[in-house]
Formats: sequence, C-alpha cells, structure tokens
Amino acid sequence: MARLSNGVNRGNMEKVIMYKPELETMPRDKLLEYQLNLFRNQMAYVYEKSPMYRRKFDQAGVRPDHIKTLEDVKRVSFTTKEELRQSQEKYPPFGDFLCVSPEEGIRTFQTTGTTGIPVRSLLSKKDWFVNYYEQFMYFMYGYGITKADIMFVPFNYGFYLAWWGLQAAFEQAGVLIVPGGGQSSEDRIKNILEWKPTVVCGTPTYILFLGEVAKKMDVDLSKTTVRIVITGGEPGAQIPSTKKQIETIWGAKNYDDIGSTEISNFGFECVAQKGTHMIESMFLAEVIDPKTGKNLGPGEEGELVLSNLCCESMPLIRWRMGDVVKFNYEKCDCGRTFLRLDGGIIGRADDMFQFGGVNIFPSAIENFVREIKEFSNEYQVFAPKMGSGKHLKIRVEPSSPSLSKEEIDRAVKAFKEIFKFRIGVTPDVEVVKIGELPRFEGKAKRVIREA
Ligand SMILES: [Zn+2]
Repeated sequence: MARLSNGVNRGNMEKVIMYKPELETMPRDKLLEYQLNLFRNQMAYVYEKSPMYRRKFDQAGVRPDHIKTLEDVKRVSFTTKEELRQSQEKYPPFGDFLCVSPEEGIRTFQTTGTTGIPVRSLLSKKDWFVNYYEQFMYFMYGYGITKADIMFVPFNYGFYLAWWGLQAAFEQAGVLIVPGGGQSSEDRIKNILEWKPTVVCGTPTYILFLGEVAKKMDVDLSKTTVRIVITGGEPGAQIPSTKKQIETIWGAKNYDDIGSTEISNFGFECVAQKGTHMIESMFLAEVIDPKTGKNLGPGEEGELVLSNLCCESMPLIRWRMGDVVKFNYEKCDCGRTFLRLDGGIIGRADDMFQFGGVNIFPSAIENFVREIKEFSNEYQVFAPKMGSGKHLKIRVEPSSPSLSKEEIDRAVKAFKEIFKFRIGVTPDVEVVKIGELPRFEGKAKRVIREA
C-alpha cells in the first residue's frame, strides 16, 4: 500500500476488500427482506427462550407472528439499560433476559459503569467463535486488514470487552497478535519498534496519549511500520480534527470501530472514510426521537436503536443505545449498500448537556480543542447548573512548555472565537499546567456537571 507522506487522508482510497460482498452490496429492497426474515426468527426465538422478553411481549400484546413487515417492528417495545440492570439485580448474576443457561456461557464481560451500575453480558461458544468472529470479519475486511498484518494490542486483560473480541477474531482469521497488556506506555512504544506491528488499536484518547509518550522518548511514530490505527470506545475517528491528528502522529489510516458490551459489535469504517457502516446483515438499525420514541428518517439526528439479528445467548430487541447518530442510506464509494452513520457516533444522549439554550456534545468541544495547536489533547468541561448564571468553563493545557504568555493568550482568544461561532456561547477558558489534567487509558470522563 502507498504510505502517505504526512498520514493525512487526501482522498486516496486504499484497496476495497469485503468479507461477504453478496450481502454488503445487496440492493436495499433485498436487504430489507433479508432483515425482516431474520428479525421474525429472532423474535420467535427470544419469545420462546427469554423469560424477560416473553413477559414484555405478552404485556404489550405483541407476538412474533404479528410481525409481517418492517413497519410492524415499531409495535415492539424498546429494551433499555435500566431493564437489564433491574433484571440482573433481581436474578443475579445475569438476569432473566438470557436465551441460554449460564452453563453454556464461555465469556463474560461487563460495561464500564460510567453511567451507572455495570451490566453483565454472557456469551455462548457460538456467539464468541461464530457471531463475534463474523462481526469482526466485516470490520477487518472493511479496514483492509489481511492475515499478513501484525496487530499490537495495548490493552489490559479485564472485564471490559473492547479489544478482546477483536483480538480473538483477528487471530482466528490468521492475523499475528502481539500482546501489549500489562506494560507501561513506554514499554508499549518500545515493543512497537521491536515487533513491527502494522495495526494498533485503542481509544482515541489513549492512542493520542501514546503519541505524547513517544514524543518524550524521541520516537517518531509516523516512521514506524504501523499503517492502520483502529479506534473505538469513544467518538474520535469521526471527529475530523482528532482523526487528522491521529493520522499525522502515527503516519497511518485511522478507522472507527463501534460496539457495546450489551449488543456486541456493529459498526466499522471502510477505506472510503466517509462515515461508519452498520453491519446490516446482523443488526436491524433504527433511529428515533429520544423524547417521543418516533422513528426518524435519513439525515435526522436521533438515538440509535438496534436489534440483534444473529445472536444466541442474549439477543436484544429494539435496544436503545443512548448514542446519537444520523443515518445515510446512499451507496458508499466502497460499493457497500450497508447504511452509514454520518460522523459515526455523534455523542451520547446522556453526555449531551444543555447550556444557554443549546445542546452541546463533548465531542464538539474536543474538535475545537484539537484545532488549536497551542493546546494539548486533554481538556475538561465544567457545565454549571442551568439558571445559576455561571459561565461554561473549559480547562486546557498548553501543548509545549516553551510557549510564551502572548502565544497562549492568542490561542485562548482564537478558541473562544471558534466556540462562539460554532456553538453560540462564549466559555471561560482556564489554562492549567502541563500534565495537570487527568489522562485516561479507557473511556475518558471529561464533563463535570454541577450537581
Ligand atoms: Zn464504505
């Protein structure tokens, strides 16, 4: 493949390869038929096997044989995180929504719990080795990764699903895995130089942090063998300024990966880098108005709702993701007809906060921070209580100790102007010492709300 001189995407698309081209390029009417069939089977399966779903469907008076068209899917009630939590509290440890007995499980994970009590998931052998594998094959081919690649996984073994599924699937497909768990970030950089991986994965925050560590060690990551950086767990690959930064620092292409512990792995960015594709052969995706629950159309921003079409242990039906997205059904430059999320996950419905009458996502603020080269990648947002009369406050760090006071002042002024222009609010900006803001290896928690 052609290495980019400075790693920035100039629209020169890498070679397109597909895992299941017959499904990935299927005309939409055929695809919808295919999905309806799977959805009906899945409804019948969960009605038979999952006590929670049987109860839910009976209460709502909707039975699997009522689903004749995709329009009928709207009659099925949503599944929420709170329901899963309550079910697990009442019937520990896995709740009563599973479709298999706990003895059939071979892997368990739990959510990070950043938005409350963690939810546990259980995966059967088929889900781990067949369904997860298939999901990640769509990702792997989508990114243009082949078994000739070597992947470095800078991630510790734990309860958090993130890169374990990806690693297991890629090794099953023949990609050589270099384990990067249980190491300091410095050792990880040394191992990248020594083992010469072509692929690295991580959260955008941690991938950028590794960039800082490498800089301190006088290592130029753009000169290493890494050609692809997969990021997930937070928006980033779809925030233009963050993507540009990752691609420049690493001299590599940066692709988005989306999934969640509860519903598994459903979205990948292809080499065209124009939004994140949904694996529509394995998931039914809808977008709704989070307030009314009504379905929205393409181009409209709303909450993502997903149903597992291929899952044995804990399929979820009309699962409310809490993520805000925008659908695009136009055929992609890569040739896939699988719908795309324009801008990937735009934000978390529950991360979004209101200030001065506007909805603000931390991902938008991140984009502004990363446009200012005098600021480091770290930031913190203080969102005051509504009506308190206080200003929104953003804390940032200088990117280098050698910047003068004048340079910092100019950067702060420029930042405030961008903010005001794009969001309509002027924040207070506090510049703290380098290294004072918290660093995160996993999901970053950047918004502090006044209680
Ligand atoms: Zn595409």
